[in-house]
Amino acid sequence: MADMFDVVVIGGGPGGYAAAIRCAQKGASVALVEKKAMGGTCLNVGCIPSKSLLASVHFLTQARHANLMGLEVQGTIKPNWTKMIGRKDAIVAGFTQGVTGLVRSNGIKIFNGTGVATAPGKVAVSGQDTAELECKTIILATGSEPINIPAFPFDYKTIISSAEALSLPAIPASMVIIGGGVIGCEMACIYAGVGCKVTIVEALSQLLPADDEWVGTLLAREFKKLGITVMLDCKVNAVQTGGDQATVELEGGQSIVAEKVLVAVGRSACCDDQTVGNLGLEMRGRAIAVDKTMQTSAAGVYAVGDAVGTTYLAHGAFQEAEVAAQNATGGSQEMGDYSLIPRAVYSFPEVASVGLNERACAAKGIDVVVGKAPFRSNGRSVAHNEAAGEIRVIRSRADNTIVGVTMVGATVTELIAAARALIGSTEKIEDVCFAHPTVSEVVKEAWEDAYGISLHVPPSKR
Ligand code: NAD
Repeated sequence: MADMFDVVVIGGGPGGYAAAIRCAQKGASVALVEKKAMGGTCLNVGCIPSKSLLASVHFLTQARHANLMGLEVQGTIKPNWTKMIGRKDAIVAGFTQGVTGLVRSNGIKIFNGTGVATAPGKVAVSGQDTAELECKTIILATGSEPINIPAFPFDYKTIISSAEALSLPAIPASMVIIGGGVIGCEMACIYAGVGCKVTIVEALSQLLPADDEWVGTLLAREFKKLGITVMLDCKVNAVQTGGDQATVELEGGQSIVAEKVLVAVGRSACCDDQTVGNLGLEMRGRAIAVDKTMQTSAAGVYAVGDAVGTTYLAHGAFQEAEVAAQNATGGSQEMGDYSLIPRAVYSFPEVASVGLNERACAAKGIDVVVGKAPFRSNGRSVAHNEAAGEIRVIRSRADNTIVGVTMVGATVTELIAAARALIGSTEKIEDVCFAHPTVSEVVKEAWEDAYGISLHVPPSKR
């Protein structure tokens, strides 16, 4: 006898649990099927554990600057990796339990096992729980996995993905990171911060190639100060492993020996072949094709998050989950402009952006004026000894509106929500009061500069 629900969600990451809770809030009976731990990649082996380790390293770096801040410290301040990992694990465990409790408190039935859609409206669960579920709507939130390159496949010991890098038993003496994207930059900051000799090998000509060139240049300059070696325009041919180390062979004949090789060349959407075949889902490569309502090619089947290969961001998944949940419960909603989903990288310094960047504007033929403001002119940033970086606010010359904001600097990931409000705004900046002294004033400076009215830029430099 099958268990009946209005909605069955497969996958308990940010996309899945958010969709499940929203559907339940709308009065639907909901089941959620998860084969590993509630919270998915983000909570267990992604956003939260990496931010926990980055926070420890940030604290360590601050403490090492104690002298500069006018403090006297006796003895050396050293990382205790075991304790750092223990703290990270405790944070993850707390949130995993919290999310599980939250889901249950919404009356959602959790099935621990692998969910396979056998037909529209039918899901089979196998594993810790075994069940046949029937429903009106299925929401697929099956996530993504690290891309595995045949020339240097994961052995999960020496050649590792970000998941293993978040739980290494000890700090390696050296690490080569293949890929200078989001994961590469964040993990480089963690490991360089605790004394590992880190080399980033990036195939393209800058770090964070999806961002504007100045972002990559600024980040590479700051990474050098952290002791990170950055090799650009550099491709890896193969990795040989033997004993406790690896030899990374680069195109051009050079090679680097390291204790660990972290491969961070992107993630790929996942959905099991049986579900795809049984539902006859249209795919875009490995990703499930969806329309603006998050509906797949099969009626009554929605898909959200990394599985649809749009943003590969937890908050992108949250947004898509809102849309799918509304539509699964009788509403009618479409996803808005994806460029308005903020992008945030938690490296040292951080990078955040929203709307169009300068490169995207050039590609679209949008004539722009770029307002700039550096953190070194901001009192609070200097007082905090965190004055690297700048904010750029991009104005369309044609209609005078702000079309994008890009920021590099300490805590900019916390400023990006405020920057989001600027996009499309025609508000008179002079009327908007920012608290002083705050780091956020740099947003106002760059915003003013985009209109040539910056208060703190001398007339000769405007
Ligand atoms: P990414 O796409 O951000 O970066 C991959 C990088 O690898 C690119 O710069 C690419 O040019 C480079 N590359 C590809 N093949 C290469 C090769 N053979 N040799 C050298 N370089 C090579 O992917 P990622 O860093 O692996 O992250 C995966 C996904 O997870 C991303 O979509 C990212 O947005 C998401 N993520 C987001 C956050 C965040 O928002 N803070 C954190 C972690 C991961």
